[in-house]
Amino acid sequence: MKGVVVKSTGSWYLVRDAEGKLHRARLRGKFKLKGMKVSNPLAVGDRVEFDVETTGEDTAVIHKIEDRENYIIRQSTHKTAFSHIIAANLDQALLIVTLVSPRTSFGFIDRFLVTAEAYDIPTILVFNKTDLYDEEMRDYQRQISHMYQQIGYKSITVSAKSNEGLDEMNELLHDKTTLLSGHSGVGKSTLINIIVPDLELKTSEISDFSDKGVHTTTFAEMFEVDDNTYIIDTPGIKELGIVDIPKNQLGHFFPEMRERLNQCRFNNCTHFNEPGCAVVEAVRHNEISLTRYESYLSMLMGDDNRK
Ligand code: GDP
Ligand code: ZN
Repeated sequence: MKGVVVKSTGSWYLVRDAEGKLHRARLRGKFKLKGMKVSNPLAVGDRVEFDVETTGEDTAVIHKIEDRENYIIRQSTHKTAFSHIIAANLDQALLIVTLVSPRTSFGFIDRFLVTAEAYDIPTILVFNKTDLYDEEMRDYQRQISHMYQQIGYKSITVSAKSNEGLDEMNELLHDKTTLLSGHSGVGKSTLINIIVPDLELKTSEISDFSDKGVHTTTFAEMFEVDDNTYIIDTPGIKELGIVDIPKNQLGHFFPEMRERLNQCRFNNCTHFNEPGCAVVEAVRHNEISLTRYESYLSMLMGDDNRK
């Protein structure tokens, strides 16, 4: 049988088959990812083949993992330690942000976007809590959205309270597997509760299952919105681990810098204090947003863990 891993506890997995039935599963034998040290061979979103053993408990055995289209990894802070695969086979990410209560920093948004660029996951910004905006805030949000749109990131406005934009959000999710992310307090859980029908039921199904596992630490869970629509939540993960990007490559993950790279005098330009830098020139002429450039510099300097 074929299915998708919707939950992983480390030693046990929950697999949804084509009919939507959930199976408790374990992995047969050892699987290794080439060239990478990872602590988990299998993650949420992985497509697998499995057999159901009819004896004893309803237990499935996974014998094959299909090649991943992409995946995101939580990198260990220790170079020698193992990384953790958070999720696989994502079509896109929705980054939920707020301008008030709380205010998401540009640094946070831009770090997320760089990580998503590195993993090749298209990202859409979702401004939540628009019911709290006054006219001035609306204007400000439009300016920010315009800035991100110019460099290739779509954005929408929603309110979990007034229901603004929820139809548009559902359309964006339709027939896709989407990672939902956001700083805590932005309303991610509230939105997931609205988007996923019978969420409470699904959550209880899933937690029943994890109680039987040895490890109950979870890193991500996948919810079915409808037949071909899934969302992946990463409870407890504040930020995706930024991939290890060499300084003179960081600009490749800022679309507005990437398109100017070959205009810099030096081809290993870090766009900081080199003469003849096309990026610095573009910032001077307001062709590259100052907030984006500040995010770039703070990542370049390595103080990108500040909030
Ligand atoms: P999470 O940490 O991102 O999962 O955030 P929650 O979903 O727990 O929401 C944090 C708080 O924001 C809660 O008190 C929600 O009721 C509130 N909240 C969520 N969405 C909205 C919204 O659209 N408008 C307003 N005014 N409050 C919201
Ligand atoms: Zn440069």
